[in-house]
Amino acid sequence: MSDSRRPIALVTGASSGIGRSLARRFADAGYDLAIVSRDGARLKAVADEIMSKTGVVVLPIVQDLSAAGAGRKVVEALGGREPDVLINNAGFGVHGAFAETEVSDELAMVRVQVDAVIELTKAVLPGMIRKGRGGILNIGSVYCFAPVPEQAIYASTKAFLLSFSQSLIGELSGTGVHVTLVCPGITRTEFRERAGMKDTGRIRGKDPDEVADAAYRAFSAKRRIVVLGGASKIFVGLARWLPGLIFLPLMRSINRYRGIAPKR
Ligand code: NAP
Repeated sequence: MSDSRRPIALVTGASSGIGRSLARRFADAGYDLAIVSRDGARLKAVADEIMSKTGVVVLPIVQDLSAAGAGRKVVEALGGREPDVLINNAGFGVHGAFAETEVSDELAMVRVQVDAVIELTKAVLPGMIRKGRGGILNIGSVYCFAPVPEQAIYASTKAFLLSFSQSLIGELSGTGVHVTLVCPGITRTEFRERAGMKDTGRIRGKDPDEVADAAYRAFSAKRRIVVLGGASKIFVGLARWLPGLIFLPLMRSINRYRGIAPKR
């Protein structure tokens, strides 16, 4: 990367959806970027668009985050530049009854949404702590707080992110480094189509730019755990306080209403 004096944000999953919007938002705020995904052509298009509009430097890093050692390879690609912000955003869903889904898909999801998050965070934190500044922005979900039938492993990876973020918030107190976990509800990205979810569209969801803007503001204000939007807050309240006996059938009713759960 260039040796400009601008801070650097490393954004995973920046080829589409929330990650692409976050990359644009941090560039607008004056950050140079390193952006990661598997799709080199899409990454280059995002990088070219951002560089021509804002003049910041954008380094595309083509990397499958489900591959062994992916986090280390991403850090190597930075060529010694230390990110000031790490945005753990890349992710995808696997939808269906756990007894019927492909275990290889679910293990790849765990590698992207758990292993790569651990590896990247561990790689960048020592530099941030040494400098006494910087932060981690984790993109969670309302499912951080809820068990979810037909998305058992996806919801488990998000529960991991909640526990991990909270633990780091405790550890990093007084270091000058902060962690923000942002939990969006349904957002209009490629996520559901990629997961093969045949959503009825009854719940329209938020625009990814709106989510990214709220995430940027929460991170800049050093907020810790942020659930975005009124409906999401109600959902999280129900997930936290209702007993499973009531919440789990309710969750399946919501998914049936959305058209993404079996009728039985
Ligand atoms: P999206 O439009 O499908 O974008 C997902 C991004 O992750 C893409 O850039 C994709 O890049 C990247 N990615 C997926 N697998 C990857 C892999 N193996 N290696 C590297 N990059 C990979 O979905 P999105 O909605 O923006 O999702 C972003 C985050 O928001 C996820 O963590 C998701 O859980 C969370 N979220 C989404 C919603 C929603 O309703 N959309 C709600 C709550 C939370 P390539 O395919 O180019 O590799």
